[in-house]
Order: sequence, then structure tokens, then C-alpha cells
Amino acid sequence: MIPARPGPGSDALRETLAYYRDLGVAELYLDERAEEHEKISLNVNGAAGTAAAGAASASELKSLARTVSSCVTCRLCKTRKQTVFADGSPDARIMFIGEAPGADEDAQGVPFVGRAGQLLTRMIEDGMGLPRSSVYIANVLKCRPPENRNPEPDEIASCRGYLETQIDLVKPEVLVALGKFAAQFLLETEEGIMRLRGKWGSYRGIPVMPTFHPSFLLRQPAQKKEAWEDLLAVLAKLGIEPPARRGKAT
Ligand code: URA
Repeated sequence: MIPARPGPGSDALRETLAYYRDLGVAELYLDERAEEHEKISLNVNGAAGTAAAGAASASELKSLARTVSSCVTCRLCKTRKQTVFADGSPDARIMFIGEAPGADEDAQGVPFVGRAGQLLTRMIEDGMGLPRSSVYIANVLKCRPPENRNPEPDEIASCRGYLETQIDLVKPEVLVALGKFAAQFLLETEEGIMRLRGKWGSYRGIPVMPTFHPSFLLRQPAQKKEAWEDLLAVLAKLGIEPPARRGKAT
């Protein structure tokens, strides 16, 4: 654990350290480029909502994004350009969870903006008929692993509290786990995505639909049919008609 440095901002630093301590973090990494990370990478497109509770969650999410932007709890802080917190509405009914930012996300500070992200956007907007800004999108890891390697277990453990808090604040009605890492995180299982996909699970009482990661679908387009079935199940769970059926006389 690094000692709190005295001087301006030491109260904020103390608060941040206390936050990490409460998360169970025992060790922190020094980030020589800390000043560059002051930029908040939260991109909340949607309306904050009129209900006081919604507004409170939106403001807590912003504050969490600020904490995340200067996170040094694992080695990834040394190689990231910036943290990638979330995109979408804090009032979303559906929350999509991916694995970790890639190069495009690391450059822009927004999740799912590269090729896989463009496919995810089409799945949400063209497939499900929902504006991307109406859902909430986050990742298991908030920093890009070098060369897009798989997340390490200790990196997932360091980041765990952030995603858990995001879910607590957004309170989605359905979670969609994109790929193995998100599904295993939410369902606390070692089972592979081939076995998990398409079957409802539960995270703290919230229904979880595991499905294929869009990067996998780019490599295996024949599996899009299964992913589409999973998204249809999500719409059905929420009582939302799929776009093809909307507007048709029953
Ligand atoms: N893959 C992910 O899992 N998340 C992103 O944000 C981008 C690609």
C-alpha cells in the first residue's frame, strides 16, 4: 500500500485509499501518468431520469467513474491510455457486460466502439430495435489488457467492486453477459460460454442471459442465429415486442 502523500488533495487521496481499503485492496500500483487520468471517461448519453433516485444513481455513477479514472489497483494502470467506465443510460432496463476494453476503447474512453462494438450496436439498434443510448454498457475490466490478452484472475478481482457497484446503481431488470468472462463473473462459475449461453442465470436476483461475445460472432458469423435467439429471450423477459412484430395487428 502506498502511503498518503501530504499536501493539496490529500483529503481526496485519503478518501480514495479508504475506498480501496473497503474493497479489500491491499496493494496499489503507482501510475507515473496520473495527471493524464483526471479526465473522466464516463459517457452517460441517456437522460438522467426525473426520479430523485435515478438522479442520485447518476451522480454516484459519475463519482465512481472519477474514482475509476485514477485507479491504480492493478498492473493495467501502467499500460492503459485511459480507463473505460461505461456508456448508456443510468436508468437502463438492460445492462450489457463485456470483457475488457480493446485498442479503440482505450483510445476513446468508451466501451464497444471498435469492430465488435459496431456489431453490438447493430444487434441492439437494428436487432432489438432499441437506441444504444437507452441501454447501459460496461465491462468486467475497466482497463485494456496489453495486446488484448485475456484478463488475469487478479485483475478481475481488483476490478470486481466497480462492476458490482455499477450494477447496484443502475439496477437493470436484465443483465446480458457477452462472452465467457462476463458470464463467469456474474454466475460465479467456471463453465464455458458454449454451455452457458441461452440459459437464464441469476446475479443477486437479477436475471442474466449469457450470450456470445460480438468479437466471437465476427469470427463465427454462423453463430449469430443463437445470439439473436438469446436477445429475443431478453426482449420477451421485459415484455418488449421485437421490431419485426411491432406495429403488426395481432
Ligand atoms: N470487447 C469488450 O469486451 N469490451 C469492449 O469494450 C470492447 C471490446
